[in-house]
Amino acid sequence: MVIIMKKNATEKQVDHVIGWIESVGYQAHPSQGVERTIIGIVGDDRGKAQLKATEHLPGVEKVMPILKPYKLASRESRDGDTIVRVGDLEIGGPDFVVMAGPCSIESEAQLLESAYIARKGGAQVLRGGAYKPRTSPYSFQGMEEEGLKILKKAREKTGLPVVTEVMNTTDVDLVEQYADILQIGARNVQNFALLKKVGQARKPVLLKRGMMCTIEELLMAAEYILAAGNDNVILCERGIRTFETATRNTLDISAVPVLKELTHLPVIVDPSHAAGHWQYVKPLARTAIVAGADGLIIEVHPEPAKAISDGAQSLKPEKFYELMEEMRILSEVMKNRIEVRQ
Ligand code: PEP
Ligand code: MN
Repeated sequence: MVIIMKKNATEKQVDHVIGWIESVGYQAHPSQGVERTIIGIVGDDRGKAQLKATEHLPGVEKVMPILKPYKLASRESRDGDTIVRVGDLEIGGPDFVVMAGPCSIESEAQLLESAYIARKGGAQVLRGGAYKPRTSPYSFQGMEEEGLKILKKAREKTGLPVVTEVMNTTDVDLVEQYADILQIGARNVQNFALLKKVGQARKPVLLKRGMMCTIEELLMAAEYILAAGNDNVILCERGIRTFETATRNTLDISAVPVLKELTHLPVIVDPSHAAGHWQYVKPLARTAIVAGADGLIIEVHPEPAKAISDGAQSLKPEKFYELMEEMRILSEVMKNRIEVRQ
């Protein structure tokens, strides 16, 4: 259910409605839009009739059911788009955002060099994994806490906020101390215990679509985080598994407009993990921006040939600068696009 408050509803009236919802055993998730407050209600279906009575409370315009299984992630539960704020940076706002850096943190020198490359190219966020989900147990598993400390150093030196993956509920508190954005990787998109745990964190979450995950399942995964109290979720399309083997995954570019229609959450694209080969990263990045994505997350490495993980899909610095130049041009085009609302 969702309660739409009247445009002139007072704060006191909003508080009264929230108190009422909670008194009948439901959770209230208010969101302040430009024009009015909308209150999402979550809980089980049994007391629905009681909720209908909120219609008569002062300041309430109407009470509506949300038909989608994801409630808080659904467009109906918000007035406008969610903008995730990381310091001064806005993700999901008018400006296109690029997160860039290596797949893994390999050493201090490698990450610092990557961070300077990311900043020089105009990226607004530095990426780098300290905990790596690897297919083989014999592959490099990440530098763990030592990697997080290096990430912190790169953050201090460049001023770029950082995004890094967390794979385990027991690591969330630690990773949260270092990261500006917590990444949930494709393999953990339905790790419900982990989703609930990052839902309690105070940092935004970058939620990547699983390689076998439908759009609805991705939104249900986001719902876990939102229902646990964390409103700051960024969705990421990173390719899904299909019969095609020429690319590592198949970028489902249609997920961008579909998600934009279904949810108020920001949507970014990871062309690197979709492509698996560096030469396809730029063409896929172009499609992402013109499809309406809010940003990109890209793998960049000072020397991809020497990368410990995902070297084949990592861009060399020069290629990255070239891509960023194009993104600046395309983002201007997108700002001037003509949109006729139906
Ligand atoms: C990564 O970002 O390096 C990563 C492992 O991504 P994904 O979870 O999309 O495979
Ligand atoms: Mn990677």
